Amino acid sequence: MEEVKTYIPSTLKEALEIKSKVDCIALAGGSDLMVAHKRTLGLTPKFDKSVMIIRNLKELRNIYINERGECCIGSCCTSAEIAESPLCPWHLRQAASRMGAVGLRNSATIGGNIANASPKGDTPGPLYLLDARVKLSSVDGEREVPVSDFIIKFRTIDLRSDELITEIIVPLSEDDFDYIFWHKVGTRKANAISKITLSQAIKFNKDDTVGDYRVSATATGAKTNRSRDVESILIGKKITPELIEDVIKAFDAVISPRAMPEFRREATRRMIRRFLTESSKHPKDKVIDTYDGYHVTGQPEPRRK
Ligand SMILES: Cc1cc2nc3c(=O)[nH]c(=O)nc-3n(C[C@H](O)[C@H](O)[C@H](O)COP(=O)(O)OP(=O)(O)OC[C@H]3O[C@@H](n4cnc5c(N)ncnc54)[C@H](O)[C@@H]3O)c2cc1C
Repeated sequence: MEEVKTYIPSTLKEALEIKSKVDCIALAGGSDLMVAHKRTLGLTPKFDKSVMIIRNLKELRNIYINERGECCIGSCCTSAEIAESPLCPWHLRQAASRMGAVGLRNSATIGGNIANASPKGDTPGPLYLLDARVKLSSVDGEREVPVSDFIIKFRTIDLRSDELITEIIVPLSEDDFDYIFWHKVGTRKANAISKITLSQAIKFNKDDTVGDYRVSATATGAKTNRSRDVESILIGKKITPELIEDVIKAFDAVISPRAMPEFRREATRRMIRRFLTESSKHPKDKVIDTYDGYHVTGQPEPRRK
């Protein structure tokens, strides 16, 4: 019978020491790894390397707001924990709450979702939108990298063999915008791999010109798409139907031509058009738009207590 050595460190320090000495796979929730290494029915998954189980490391399970007001999420926090945490940004809570089914959300971690580097992964969309960074730790120290640089391309990340993702740091939240949008297009409301997930956020200046606009889309190419050039089309201007079409055309050029069947492009165009049209009607309001639950409300739920 084949044997795989399994390490179960009890502290982060111990885990990083193991990582520095042993070529091993970090296993968090295991929801991607167990599927990737599965064998025929009746046989346990087969790993060709040693495995280190990191899921229960306390240091990787915290969610808190740091001294700069940024939301810091331990890499082994699960989708269920993120969806329920009032400290986490609204866009990320939406994405986490619609991943897979309940059982999956109790095991899938944010670190695993990022490291998996699937263009269909749900959390990178909000993380790109909100300029999130990953903290990477090794026995030699720590470094921080924007999530959008950390995910290099399909299934490829900027992670050294001696490193672990320890934290995800999100500097922005719904509090930084007036009008926010998140919608996952899938075959079902949850328990469906996304066909597209679109995140948007806009902030207006006092004179109703656009102070900031952001849009990111998953499942639209080799990795999540976001382009500051596209967003800049609106900045400093009042929204007009012509400008909306300019944004749509420019974003259409950013998303991958090969990976995008026409229905996905059309859904993306519609969601951008609707968001920008509706937000320009209510520049003075705080609005949450989920597409299927669209309404002009009062303030978004307060995030920080
Ligand atoms: C039935 C099913 C439905 C799913 N539905 C969705 C969905 O709707 N949306 C979605 O986005 N995904 C979905 N997934 C994919 C998967 O659940 C997510 O990608 C999940 O977040 C992965 O996290 P994990 O903790 O299970 O990762 P694991 O399987 O433990 O690890 C995945 C990869 O990340 C690496 N890794 C994990 N943690 C770290 C760390 N801290 N540092 C360094 N490397 C690390 C591992 O070594 C491995 O390479 C689904 C999967 C299944 C099986």
